[in-house]
Amino acid sequence: MTKEEWQILHDRNPQYDGKLFCGLIAQKVVCQVSCPQRSRDIENVAVFSSLEDALAQGYRPCGHCRPEKPGWKGSRHELVEAARQYIEAHSTEKFSLAALSGALYINGSYLLRTFKEATGCTLLWYHNHIRCEKAKELLMRSDLSVSQAGEQTGFASSSHFSHVFKKMEGMTPSEFRSAYFRQLQS
Ligand SMILES: [Zn+2]
Repeated sequence: MTKEEWQILHDRNPQYDGKLFCGLIAQKVVCQVSCPQRSRDIENVAVFSSLEDALAQGYRPCGHCRPEKPGWKGSRHELVEAARQYIEAHSTEKFSLAALSGALYINGSYLLRTFKEATGCTLLWYHNHIRCEKAKELLMRSDLSVSQAGEQTGFASSSHFSHVFKKMEGMTPSEFRSAYFRQLQS
């Protein structure tokens, strides 16, 4: 370990999170550089340039700073956009907060709260909204039956499709389709 490296670990310099890792030799624990837990003595500290190196030497990730989950580094705005993009790309799958927050390396309840504050709607509402928008496209522009449109957009059953669609759009998928074609003919 160089003098510079020791200085970084000693100062818990957050700019080095993800670039260096701090091993505590006696405890066999590896931390992010900025982890506030546990004192750091120069004799008891090892520096790693990757988490894999530390794990290969038998260190376990610190339960407090979770070096295996590097954390969201962007702004709140970027976080909301990333959540939107993930939901749009995975709209046909069942909504899972655990999968979404895991993909973004962020705490689930923090993500829920941030999304709600920024957009005024919940993650689940947005997921249903995207599904219904895609279903509307199919109902208007394809020959698929109503239940096929529901299937293709990820709804588990026709009744689930009908229920969610009605809640979001104020009418059932069949009513929506009839209204659309009536309007085309008038
Ligand atoms: Zn730690």
